Amino acid sequence: VITINGLKKSYQLGEMEVPILHGIDLNVKKGEFVAIMGPSGSGKSTLMNMIGCLDRPTGGSVRLMGKDTASISDNELAELRGFEIGFVFQNFNLIPRLSAYENVLLPTYSNSKKNIDAAQRAKDLLTLVGLDDRLHHKPTELSGGQRQRVAIARSMINDPSLILADEPTGNLDSKTSEEIMGIFSELHGKGCTIVMITHDPEMKKYVDRVVLIRDGKIENN
Ligand code: ATP
Ligand code: MG
Repeated sequence: VITINGLKKSYQLGEMEVPILHGIDLNVKKGEFVAIMGPSGSGKSTLMNMIGCLDRPTGGSVRLMGKDTASISDNELAELRGFEIGFVFQNFNLIPRLSAYENVLLPTYSNSKKNIDAAQRAKDLLTLVGLDDRLHHKPTELSGGQRQRVAIARSMINDPSLILADEPTGNLDSKTSEEIMGIFSELHGKGCTIVMITHDPEMKKYVDRVVLIRDGKIENN
C-alpha cells in the first residue's frame, strides 16, 4: 500500500537548504505492521509526514494505495487522508476547546462515505482505550498518557485501512503501552496496515518488521 522511491526532503531555513531525508526507498505491503526506529532527529517524523501527505517531498515519489500522491487531485488527497489513513501525531494535535469525545468525533464531520454510527463508535473507542469516564474532559484536564489515548481513539474513528502512528506509546507507562499495542495488534489482525514510529525496543515483539533510519537514510532494507 506504500511505495516510496528515492524520497528526499530538505527544509528551507532562511537562505539555507537543510537536507533531512537523503533518498529513502521503502515498501510496506497491505496488512503489514512496521516499526520505524532510529535516533532523535534522524527524520522519522519527517518521513511519516511525507507518507501521510501532510508535507511535500523535495524529490522522489510516494505512492499510496496504488496512487502517485504527487499527481492526484486535492479532493482525492483529502479523501485518502480523511477516510483511509488514521494519524496519531507525536504531539497528539488535539483541539484544546473540544472534549475528548468531540476530539474523537472530529474526523467524522467530513465523513460522507462510510456509514457508521459515529457517536456510538466514538464512545466505544474511548472505552477501548480506557477513557469511558473521561468523555467530557478537555485535553488540559487529561494527563499526557490520556491525551495520547484520545489521539489513538481518534485515529481509528473512520475505520482506516492504514494507521500512521508517531510514538503512540511514547508517554505511556508499560502497562498502558501494552494495552495500546494490544489494540494495534488487534487492528493488524483485522488486516489494517500500521506504520509506527517508536523508540521502545520492547515494541519490536508486536511488529512484522523494523525499519532503521539514521541520518535520513534507511540502514537495513
Ligand atoms: P524524534 O525522534 O526526536 O521525534 P525524528 O526522527 O522524528 O526525531 P524529525 O522530526 O523528522 O526527527 O526531524 C529531523 C530533522 O529535521 C531535525 O533536525 C529537525 O530539526 C528538522 N526539522 C523537522 N521539521 C522541520 C521544519 N518544519 N523546518 C525545519 N527543520 C525541520
Ligand atoms: Mg519525531
